[in-house]
Amino acid sequence: MPVTAEILIPLAIDTAYSYAVPAGLALAEGDVVQVPLGPRETVGVVWALAESPGGSNLRPVTGRLAVPPLSEPLRRLVDWLARYTLAPKGSALAMALRLPDEAAARESARVGVRATGKPPARTTPARAKVLAAAADGTLRGKSALAKEAGVSLGVVDGLIDDGALEAVALEPEPVALPPDPDHPRLPLSEAQARAAAALLPPEGDPGATLLEGVTGSGKTEVYFEAVAECVRAGRQALILMPEIALTAQFLDRFAARFGVRPAAWHSGIGGKRRERIRAGVAGGGIGVVVGARSALFLPFARLGLIVVDEEHESAYKQEDGVHYHARDMAVVRGRLEGCPVVLASATPSIETRVNAARGRYRHVTLPERFGGRRLPDIRAIDMRLDKPERGRFLAPPMIHALKHNLAAGEQSLLFLNRRGYAPLTLCRACGHRYQCRNCSTWLVEHRFRRALVCHQCGYAERKPEACIACGAFEHLTPCGPGVERIAEEVAELFPQQRVVVLSSDFPGGAERLRAELEMVARGACDIVIGTQLVAKGHNFPHLTLVGVLDADIGLTSGDPRAAERTFQLLQQVTGRAGRGERPGRALVQTYQPEHPVIAALLSGDAERFYEEEIGARELAGLPPFGRLAALIVSANEREVAEAHGQALARAAEPPLGAMVLGPAEAPLALIRGRWRFRLLVKTERAIDLQAYLRDWLARGPKVRGNVKVTIDVDPQSF
Ligand code: ADP
Ligand code: ZN
Repeated sequence: MPVTAEILIPLAIDTAYSYAVPAGLALAEGDVVQVPLGPRETVGVVWALAESPGGSNLRPVTGRLAVPPLSEPLRRLVDWLARYTLAPKGSALAMALRLPDEAAARESARVGVRATGKPPARTTPARAKVLAAAADGTLRGKSALAKEAGVSLGVVDGLIDDGALEAVALEPEPVALPPDPDHPRLPLSEAQARAAAALLPPEGDPGATLLEGVTGSGKTEVYFEAVAECVRAGRQALILMPEIALTAQFLDRFAARFGVRPAAWHSGIGGKRRERIRAGVAGGGIGVVVGARSALFLPFARLGLIVVDEEHESAYKQEDGVHYHARDMAVVRGRLEGCPVVLASATPSIETRVNAARGRYRHVTLPERFGGRRLPDIRAIDMRLDKPERGRFLAPPMIHALKHNLAAGEQSLLFLNRRGYAPLTLCRACGHRYQCRNCSTWLVEHRFRRALVCHQCGYAERKPEACIACGAFEHLTPCGPGVERIAEEVAELFPQQRVVVLSSDFPGGAERLRAELEMVARGACDIVIGTQLVAKGHNFPHLTLVGVLDADIGLTSGDPRAAERTFQLLQQVTGRAGRGERPGRALVQTYQPEHPVIAALLSGDAERFYEEEIGARELAGLPPFGRLAALIVSANEREVAEAHGQALARAAEPPLGAMVLGPAEAPLALIRGRWRFRLLVKTERAIDLQAYLRDWLARGPKVRGNVKVTIDVDPQSF
């Protein structure tokens, strides 16, 4: 009987298309195939196969591609992702089907050269040097050989043309060698050993486990044991990290434990290497992948463990395209693969804490730092009493502590979560404030770049000499501090000291940033001034003082997650202090030391914070006690966006236990020239939020012109 294949195509379409399977082409579900689509050919995945009686007039599948098929659990993950996020199923598939792009196809294979023994037609001193270097007969890369001989590449090419050297295709460098679970290692502490044992799930009951350990408790070494166990069992492990924490330092740590570096996967991995990792993962040859959130969609053949490090990180939420949370999808993939999932954090998310409290996740804790090290002593500086000098931002006790630390030869970190020099520029003559022309944001002065920059869209303009509104000279005033401005103050206070400023816009790119981070870790710098880039994950053994310059920044945003975010960030950054030999301390500049978040931080009583915050969420019916989704309606004109939002609201008809708020201007009402209105949907847990949303959108007004409706289930800020 003829066979029909339902082919899902990785484009923004929600259903699979039917094709005829030509006789002689044996297809299986999950196979990656080529099919005609309109006037061209495209790639798709066999989502279902069925025998179809009688002849059909469907277009036939063109052929199967020689790439790893999508496994059953991975296909179900795609289904799940699309259903949960309401993204078109094809868009969800696109996450799991990143095929080699043209750049990868163009990348040439590695070629080595070696001597043939045939003398060249012509000999020159340069040619003689090359032949001498190649005399041992081993294969070398072309440029390596040229370098060794101290000649240009052209000389080597000439010898190849002459037949004195031959070019041979090299085996590709392996992307990762097999990790050795029994590589010699430092013994675990008693507490670590206990936690590691508790992390192994009971036979036949994988599930998820929260590994909660204070900063410096040695969580990494603990979950490495679970990874080792997984590798011993012949299965593969995936360690997810927020992109920012995926550092050389971590890969080295992995190498110290397992003898080799793992395969690393992140947005910077390109072309051929991407493909080889995919193939290695699908073939089972790669044992462990350490990757950013997109690694979740790699085609593992025998996945045996997923670790989500820093599970509370908001970087796990993808905020464009398919709006998914990688931590939650990791739990889903674990369930589909029947493998355990470990969620590690010093400051777990409220969602995960509640899941652990309710017994949905196991809960393993490490309440003390490794090696008897103490947690830092944290004190507040009340800015209402200890005022900085006019136009300055460091309070006297902070300056005093810095002096003290410098005298002791120890390293200090000043933390301010603001890039640039000043977050706002104001004309003191006319009151004009410099705003982005595309967004509802203030332009941030970057003195280093001599520009006013929008942190939302990247728009930049030269800082004018005179006010563009009133023409007054010398009245443009930077308001408030960014890290560059703090660096200026520190340089005046401590001109002799080695100071480094680290933020994500660090000049010189990722490579230089990595080098700077390494330098800080070595202790080759006295004062680090940084944004949240330095707050998380890093191990700076020489750091003993952390100064938080504005603990209140995040608390005023009106976002219900503000308290959680601020608490996590402050715990993380103060937790950088005292991880080495010497004890650490932290000073926190705040105008509201009595605020529950600050009070919990100062007392070191995380439990108190969690209890209060969980209680407040429950009372308000906020996640995880209720469900939440945001609909962002955007358009080029404000009125059009608002009108579409209102039409949507009129069609809402929320069922009992659900409500729809808005439309209201989104917190950032204008981004890149597009106006944004937001509707919030809040429902009780028992309600099928997705089914309701789908219903509503089908009933609602048609999207016309440049209007766009974006759905964000479980929005991270709301
Ligand atoms: P966490 O991730 O919980 O903040 P880490 O895993 O980074 O903590 O460990 C903190 C420090 O203690 C690191 O410098 C690490 O090398 C060290 N450490 C942890 N466990 C051990 C161990 N068993 N033996 C020696 N050093 C350890
Ligand atoms: Zn902008």
